[in-house]
Amino acid sequence: VTRARAGSASRFGGPSQLCGVSVDLDELPHYFELHGLVAPPPGAAARTLVYDVALGRIDAFARALDLPLTLFAVGEDLRRTESAARLRVLAECGHAIENHSLEHRYDLTRLGRAEITRQIAGGAQAIEQAMGRRPTGFRAPGYTITDEVFDVLGELEVRFDSSVFPCPAYYGAKAAVLAAQRLLGRRSAAILDTPRVLGAPTRPYRPGRPYHRPGARGLVELPIQVTPGWRLPFIGTSLALAGPVLARSLARQCSKERFVNLELHGLDFIDLRDAPDLRALAKHQPELRRPVEERLLAIEEAVRLLRAEGFGFVRLVEAAARVS
Ligand SMILES: [Zn+2]
Repeated sequence: VTRARAGSASRFGGPSQLCGVSVDLDELPHYFELHGLVAPPPGAAARTLVYDVALGRIDAFARALDLPLTLFAVGEDLRRTESAARLRVLAECGHAIENHSLEHRYDLTRLGRAEITRQIAGGAQAIEQAMGRRPTGFRAPGYTITDEVFDVLGELEVRFDSSVFPCPAYYGAKAAVLAAQRLLGRRSAAILDTPRVLGAPTRPYRPGRPYHRPGARGLVELPIQVTPGWRLPFIGTSLALAGPVLARSLARQCSKERFVNLELHGLDFIDLRDAPDLRALAKHQPELRRPVEERLLAIEEAVRLLRAEGFGFVRLVEAAARVS
């Protein structure tokens, strides 16, 4: 029995609890790079699965659940005209296209001011060129962000950022994987953020300096969702691995929040059957071995539970406007 939700309408008339579902469209070579693997050669189907295969499934997923999405695109991925054309189809359906940087450099924060600016402004420009509309939000590659990156976002008048991931479980797992890779002599492109990010607010806030404390910067931060209390990751990959029953339970834990920021990846819509070249990658991204239908079922369960609890679904730019 669904609880009565006497307080669910806000003074704006809409639902008082909002959920934003976003999808990071990192194309496959970025994942090979992340794990220190050699990417399939130019022209191989496995290089463009996110735009060629996942986008169609993302479209179907959004239609089935009646979701407005926020899609974070990597500027250089849009140089391929077929990829840009496929993304325009989703933009025309009302989904927002936001900036996931120009080249998805995992070491963005270490590149120096001029190059950080080029990566962020260049990503926005590539998206504007391909889509005819300038993005208003940003998500950093690999959830790694610094005050310097926030300074650049401020200069470029970006309205919201969604990169802070105050999740001890994720941070610990990433640290362990990077240490193991160093032991094996394999170089990952990933870098570890300051552990201070774990002290950042778990709810939308206006960042200050340091960025992991609230303050007076001109933009809004929408942290990647963690569950209240244990701060478990509430993202597509973890929901897919948890399965439908646990996914519902994680969603229920988040259902008292005023805003839930559910982050998915293009890779959540791909599995090993889509290309045999993914076998090496599946060693590091074990979810690829599970059929995509099964994984999406778990994510759908989480979305359906939030909807039944009274959540309204919005694009991140609307959620950020509500916060400010
Ligand atoms: Zn990414």
